[in-house]
Amino acid sequence: MTQTPGSTKVRYAPSPTGRIHLGNARPALLNWFFARAHCGQYVLRMDDTDLARSTRESADSIEADLAWLGITPSLLVRQSERTALYDAAVDRLKGAGRLYPCYETEDELDRRRKRARALGKPPIYDRAALKLSDADRARLEAEGRKPHWRFKLDGKPVHFEDLIKGAQTVNTASMSDPVLVREDGSYLYTLPSVVDDIDLGITHVIRGEDHVSNTGTQIEIFEALGGPVPAFAHHNLLTDAEGQGFSKRLGSLSIGDLRAQGYEAIAVAIMATLTGTSLPVEPHASLDEIAGKLEFSAISHGPARFDPAELDSLNARILHAMSYQAAQPRLAERGIAGEELWLVLRNNLVKFDDIADWARLVTGPVQPVIDEQDRAFIATARELLPPEPWTLQTWADWTDAIRAATGRKGKPLFMPLRMALTGRHDGPELKSLLPLVGRKACLDRLL
Ligand code: GLU
Repeated sequence: MTQTPGSTKVRYAPSPTGRIHLGNARPALLNWFFARAHCGQYVLRMDDTDLARSTRESADSIEADLAWLGITPSLLVRQSERTALYDAAVDRLKGAGRLYPCYETEDELDRRRKRARALGKPPIYDRAALKLSDADRARLEAEGRKPHWRFKLDGKPVHFEDLIKGAQTVNTASMSDPVLVREDGSYLYTLPSVVDDIDLGITHVIRGEDHVSNTGTQIEIFEALGGPVPAFAHHNLLTDAEGQGFSKRLGSLSIGDLRAQGYEAIAVAIMATLTGTSLPVEPHASLDEIAGKLEFSAISHGPARFDPAELDSLNARILHAMSYQAAQPRLAERGIAGEELWLVLRNNLVKFDDIADWARLVTGPVQPVIDEQDRAFIATARELLPPEPWTLQTWADWTDAIRAATGRKGKPLFMPLRMALTGRHDGPELKSLLPLVGRKACLDRLL
């Protein structure tokens, strides 16, 4: 995203009703990239107007997950603390004749939708409540009914230039007037989002393409409230390998779980954002580096399929290239040290924590595996172990001598040595491992 300093202000607006998952991380990060590339501000807005489902615990977990990914918002706001602003907007919309009270129950609305469908008509709200007289309303309220409030759409095509999807038209004539305020006075998502975008001076709304049709409604509300209307960018949604959307309740790919499973934050960020773009999914050093490369034009218009195997291989590639300087504090936490050790072992890692197992090949204990039929061979090899100091040449010198003495070559020569020295049939190059293990430990393992 091109570097242009200015007054850019974006927001990421999760509903704190559970842990955020990989699909939620996509808008979180795309907004972050945009803010960074434009020297802008990043607002974290908790869409917590649904008091029954929102929890402080979820909100806190979202903050922690974003911090882990490397996102540090410039501002945090909670919609539950901003009701006065929404109330003021409601008054203005009522005054402008754009918000009207409706008294239908869910059952009544359901029956009407069914009837419309049976008649081959679109099941959109018929605006019956607009025809109610003051006396009708008084009677309904006397019956104990409380109104919910609908926004009166213009019923015209709304055009906007989407920064990702190009020119878009949403025809609000084919939509029901949206309910903005529930019977109990609580707010649905649509209005508070617009009020906050205006109040906070949001310049760009970057979110999933499931919000394109909302945008038609919201542009009308922006205009009814005197705007300004921000720019919109709707990105493709991340799906699992089967093409299904992620769900907060699914759990398994929550950012918290991926973290607990030991993935690198940068690997998760790369998967969440570069999947479904024309850029290759490959290691990047930092979020800023991705921000410098990922333009909106690179985001494809089809779905973005997440492949878990790709996350594993990306994570591994990131670790295989990780410098000792970067790894050192994390190694120290695990009681492991040594640049040589890191450089030799890092190529075997899929997750950082694998280092503990691999480091045992150097520090021990190792349970040597020696087949009965290889006992004499191993005993000969032990006797031929060269004197120290050991270098990268030691392995070749030693195995040349064993070959000459025993006539073995290839796998029958190398595999019994590997099994004896490491207790496993795969792992780092023995040539590099040998000097790290040292002669004394090798002698012990060849017994
Ligand atoms: N809370 C909404 C969501 O999670 C925000 C959508 C928006 O960015 O406007 O889908």
